[in-house]
Amino acid sequence: MIDLHTHSSASDGTLHPAQLIEQARQQGLSALALTDHDTIAGLEEAKQEATKSTFRFIPGVEIEVTWEPGEFHLLGLGIYHPGSAFLEALAELAHLREMRNLKIIERMQEWNIQVTYEDIVSLSGGHSVGRPHFASLLVKRGLVKNREQAFSQYLGRGRPFYIPKEGMDFRRAVQAIKEAGGIAVLAHPMSLYVAWGHLPTLIKGLKDQGLNGIEAWHPTAKVRSCKRLEDLGKSLGLCITAGSDFHGETRPDRKLGITAGNVKIDEAVLAAIPALQEENIPRVHGI
Ligand code: AMP
Ligand code: ZN
Ligand code: FE
Ligand code: FE
Repeated sequence: MIDLHTHSSASDGTLHPAQLIEQARQQGLSALALTDHDTIAGLEEAKQEATKSTFRFIPGVEIEVTWEPGEFHLLGLGIYHPGSAFLEALAELAHLREMRNLKIIERMQEWNIQVTYEDIVSLSGGHSVGRPHFASLLVKRGLVKNREQAFSQYLGRGRPFYIPKEGMDFRRAVQAIKEAGGIAVLAHPMSLYVAWGHLPTLIKGLKDQGLNGIEAWHPTAKVRSCKRLEDLGKSLGLCITAGSDFHGETRPDRKLGITAGNVKIDEAVLAAIPALQEENIPRVHGI
């Protein structure tokens, strides 16, 4: 079993990077990519843990790309040498997040919730702060029963504490990922909110601008849709990836190595991606 999409406490997951690797190993996974939202702060720790015994660690990231009306997340898999252009891109995303978080704080204060930015930062660990951390705060303060309610009542689209998030231009995100040695993979394509009739043209266009693969298998999609995405990706000559989008305790429905339809992610998925084979990875690298 393997997993090509996971989160740690460096973004909105609950396990520390080393714990994530440890758990993956215990549960019988042989390879895992850590793909935190807009940050690579967890990669070094995960790599250190992975090298303690045979385990294939793939340094990654999940970048927010500007898109309406849905959500466009771009996975960067194989972030082996993040250079200054890549780090600059992440710094910009961090700035956009901070601006948005401050607006959410303002809204909360307007609703007479006593909260400071420091409260949220300390609750999150401070690397990639986002709505899941606001959800935790609302639960902690007893304002909602659980995180689901925090999103449905306050933080979800159209709710009072919802502030749209700006992302990065697609081409720039692809360029940054490639400069760092990675491949660019469209995460959970169904979240783009694009009708099936338009998807082939859209994804072909993204490929022409540098997209390398699509995450056909993701737990939020129906198995039927995943198969359809896989066929579409293959017909366009793209790599096919699969992930659990594991977040730890906050999203207990997501299990390491398991994707849509409770399907275990087979090692063959990784073996079919040439750029991620060990012999194709540059020898001199940072992570
Ligand atoms: P942000 O990047 O700050 O907009 O937060 C988005 C993250 O919030 C997603 O990656 C999910 O992990 C989480 N999220 C979004 N919607 C929900 C929901 N309805 N319930 C729980 N978590 C959610
Ligand atoms: Zn997340
Ligand atoms: Fe995502
Ligand atoms: Fe994710």
